Amino acid sequence: MPTSPKRTKKRRRLRFPVIIPGICILAGIIILLVVLLKGCNSKKTDTPESGSPAAQENPSAVTIEDSGKDFRNFFGHKGLVTETCNLYLKTDEGFLPTGSFEGGANLEIGTEQEMDLVSVAGTPFYIHGDSLSPSDRWYRSETHLIPYSEDLTTAESYDIYDERGNRIASVQHSDTYPIYVKPNADDNRYGILFMNAIYYIHADQVVSTAPADRTVATQLAAEVPVLMYHFFYSEAEGGSRVDGNYVETGELEEQLAYIKDNGFTACTMRELQYWMEQRAQLPYHTIAITIDDADPSVHQYAMPIFVKYGINATNFVICGWQPAEMPYELWEMRENGMELQSHGFLTHTGGCSGMGHGGLLLCMDHAAGVEDTIRSFDYVDGGFVYCYPFGDINENAESIVRDGGAKLAFTTEGGRIHPGMDPLALPRVRVTGGNGLNAFAASIG
Ligand SMILES: [Zn+2]
Repeated sequence: MPTSPKRTKKRRRLRFPVIIPGICILAGIIILLVVLLKGCNSKKTDTPESGSPAAQENPSAVTIEDSGKDFRNFFGHKGLVTETCNLYLKTDEGFLPTGSFEGGANLEIGTEQEMDLVSVAGTPFYIHGDSLSPSDRWYRSETHLIPYSEDLTTAESYDIYDERGNRIASVQHSDTYPIYVKPNADDNRYGILFMNAIYYIHADQVVSTAPADRTVATQLAAEVPVLMYHFFYSEAEGGSRVDGNYVETGELEEQLAYIKDNGFTACTMRELQYWMEQRAQLPYHTIAITIDDADPSVHQYAMPIFVKYGINATNFVICGWQPAEMPYELWEMRENGMELQSHGFLTHTGGCSGMGHGGLLLCMDHAAGVEDTIRSFDYVDGGFVYCYPFGDINENAESIVRDGGAKLAFTTEGGRIHPGMDPLALPRVRVTGGNGLNAFAASIG
């Protein structure tokens, strides 16, 4: 009679001539049998229904279809959610529908597919792959902010908003998030890390905050040099330095390599705004990089180098000098981490002789100036940072950009910025072409 190896083993064990009371052996066998039977039982209920027993144990879990579709081409990319769809949470009991994502929202797709669900990057959530279409956006989702040692806990249901105030998701359970941005008197939102970037929860959907067991290892920034560039050229292509506003591509590359190799962080304008408002933390050695005028040489010569080093920068665009429709070059720079902000719509011109450099904004009619500012912010699709043409600033200019919606505004005065300064009269650190790496290092170190 054929016997299984297991059985043979058991018999052999029983034959061992060791003096152990038979009753102990018997008890051991009974326990073993009970354990084995239990294991078999649970397997029996699991196997035939594959995945669905969870639905029986927890009525909230649903059976997810597995059509065999392959959504891996979305992995690690942005996807556009075609219509409002379910948000699923993976639990031990299965996938629970636990809220919704809004149609039209861009989502960071993770790197997991389970049945027809794909993971949402940087979250515990999944959505149905059929709800996704390829997105034409490819900007990096990231944050340079350091979270506070404090967590928030949401209400039993809460909404998540993007920076523009569009609701992108509703969640039907309570969650806890590290706090990246705190509310203030003008803005009742908390900033959390969601899909690898900062998203927002309104304070009235936060039930509590509590200290978190998270020590901030990094030293924090107390001041930030905001670099000011203008034009770029390539000696290899026959260009030459017209004046100190021109930086050669090799020199720029050396500077960006220095930034990267020495642990500097180039933050975004939104991060800088929150830090200036003392509602967010930036790491020590944070800098910001600005480029005035959006000259074609920025796209041609500087962008490839910024992309190569993965470093953020901000273009101050003279919007009225651009085609009526934002040209592809600006779109491409924005997606590549070189954000677009305002250098006025049609204010980059003279008109106020006898004041400063004679820039128009110094004596422009208030209403016309506000209209010009709003128009420029709309042109760059959500601008909130202004760069005064020629660096000309007085009370008239400042009240115009304030009423136009600027949260930060930069001059051409020299110096670093820190919280407590007038956010609409911020100095910068000029980068002068041909000055050498030592001077550059000293200006940011
Ligand atoms: Zn300019």
